[in-house]
Amino acid sequence: MIEVSNLKKSYGKLEVLKQITFDVNKNDVVAVIGPSGSGKSTMLRSLIHLEEIDGGSIKVDGDYLVKDGVYASPHEIKRITAKMGMVFQHFNLFPHLTVKDNLEMAPRLLKREDVQVIEQRRAELLEKIGLTKWADAYPSRLSGGQKQRVAIARALMMNPDILLFDEPTSALDPELTGEVLQVMKDLAQEHMTMIVVTHEMGFAKEVANRVIFMDNGEIVESGHPTELFENPQCERTKAFLNRSL
Ligand code: ADP
Ligand code: MG
Repeated sequence: MIEVSNLKKSYGKLEVLKQITFDVNKNDVVAVIGPSGSGKSTMLRSLIHLEEIDGGSIKVDGDYLVKDGVYASPHEIKRITAKMGMVFQHFNLFPHLTVKDNLEMAPRLLKREDVQVIEQRRAELLEKIGLTKWADAYPSRLSGGQKQRVAIARALMMNPDILLFDEPTSALDPELTGEVLQVMKDLAQEHMTMIVVTHEMGFAKEVANRVIFMDNGEIVESGHPTELFENPQCERTKAFLNRSL
């Protein structure tokens, strides 16, 4: 589904991604872990063209977003990135729109579907995340956990093939993380392909079928969660896990 090879990115002299290479298969749930500043967000944002990389390739569902550092045409970039949805740490809901309108806005602007189809999907997704009652509320009235569930539903409104999550529970009070992780678990069970940057080691162990450990702009180690958590091969992985578990 996604093939990343030799991804490089610097901010000035700071090398943030150094030759990152990994694949994501259809139906994979890949957890990305690693210390703050290791390049996890930059890597994720590159996949959806929120950051431009300096070198390497990103192939999505058979098409190159960027090949050996050369980007596809703007039209192609739009088409390719539309296959992915992203959920951010700070929700990024539109504060001046109701929950319902947050969900409907992007598909309505696209004008690819009848309004009834969009409204039907919105109703189903609100039901799925248990927030039907809140359809006409503004985001400010919701808890952080509810906001993040809305953000996930909003991403799903575009029928993505892949969902990217950047620390979706890091801004939440501990008692609210469970409801968001549950929605993500449900999606995994429905075989959604997902890349999840997370500090939730329990979630990574339980839900991911692969874990990637990043440190200092590199993938230090990756493998099945049981393998990586119980028998890490690299010293840096061991040290990080000792601090995090
Ligand atoms: P992580 O998500 O793992 O915490 P990031 O990808 O956010 O790491 O950041 C990796 C490094 O790149 C950090 O040192 C960070 O300070 C730096 N960085 C991120 N975004 C920018 C930017 N827009 N300009 C300059 N430096 C940045
Ligand atoms: Mg980050």
